Amino acid sequence: MDEVFNAAVIAKKLIEKKSITPNDGGCQEYIKKELENYKFSCENINLEDVKNIWLRKGSDRPLVVFAGHTDVVPSGNIDEWHTDPFTPEIKNNILYGRGASDMKSSIAAMVAATQRFIKDNPNHKGSIGFLLTSDEEGPAKYGTQKVIEKFKKNNTNIDYCIVGEPTSSKKFGDTIKNGRRGSITGHLKIIGIQGHIAYPELAKNPIHYAGTLINDLNNFKWDNGNKYFPETSFQISSVRSDEVASNMIPRSVDITFNLRFSNELTQESIKSKFEEKLSELGCQFEIKWNCSAEPFITGEGKLTKILQSAIKEIVNVEASLSTSGGTSDARFISQHAKETVEFGPLNETAHKVNENINLQNLAELEKIYYAVLCKILI
Ligand SMILES: [Zn+2]
Repeated sequence: MDEVFNAAVIAKKLIEKKSITPNDGGCQEYIKKELENYKFSCENINLEDVKNIWLRKGSDRPLVVFAGHTDVVPSGNIDEWHTDPFTPEIKNNILYGRGASDMKSSIAAMVAATQRFIKDNPNHKGSIGFLLTSDEEGPAKYGTQKVIEKFKKNNTNIDYCIVGEPTSSKKFGDTIKNGRRGSITGHLKIIGIQGHIAYPELAKNPIHYAGTLINDLNNFKWDNGNKYFPETSFQISSVRSDEVASNMIPRSVDITFNLRFSNELTQESIKSKFEEKLSELGCQFEIKWNCSAEPFITGEGKLTKILQSAIKEIVNVEASLSTSGGTSDARFISQHAKETVEFGPLNETAHKVNENINLQNLAELEKIYYAVLCKILI
């Protein structure tokens, strides 16, 4: 049970380092020390207040990369925690602390699996890399995205990448993410003509135009989805007019909405379709867009198959491929790596109070990562 113990020890060491985004709290330095005796070269890529680290053993292909983030979200209401969020505690075989699910345990499992793999297979083929950032839970501007830009320039070519996000949903091992939907937010202002509510013929009510538009968009089918993606969803998060007088037609109405979109669409195709609908409306408008993620997909390939078979061997679960959920750094890595997937522990307590991981799952996660290394690098 030594190896189980080792992943748990590393997870505890990482949890006790208070690394609220964008702080790293010394996690990356600690991981570097853990891997120092295993012939990893190290490059620190620090930008603004963000710490990134690139560790690599070997120079041959294929290059297998473990990726993740050392930052965590704040603890939330401290009174609701049964333990101190930054003092890891084990109770009934469950490890508690901020980052226990998202995603210090995955990093610990990756490090422990790598150490054991190199000990057992000192002459393995290919290379192993670790790409870690302290800017995933925040704006994600100076983190993985910047490191990948650098890799593109200096031809660091990633073959297979596993991001350790907590992807399991009901049962440990049940879900691998092989892509994510895109996310685009629009801030729309529909401008009419202000006036007295008793003389509507002298005004132009923007709320009535908004009603027509909302109804149209509600019934509009953006796409049918495909094998990997559910159909694109359009949701309005707010409709607001600042006028409060009951006898007044307001000048304008503000609508905020978001689309989670499949790879059948791009941000450009969404914008042009939307603006087409607005011009049909016959009303003046202003619109601002913010696209935080384009959709990406890694089709079924070598890595998804290897990971699925490793999960089946270790925990006897058939892992399904999914693109659900929010965004992650895999969106940057997938632009450059041949295959990128996300796989990690249960996400049930991620970002919540009393975040935790079952130690049995942690041991199994380490074994799965170990099996993946064996299947690719031996
Ligand atoms: Zn995360």
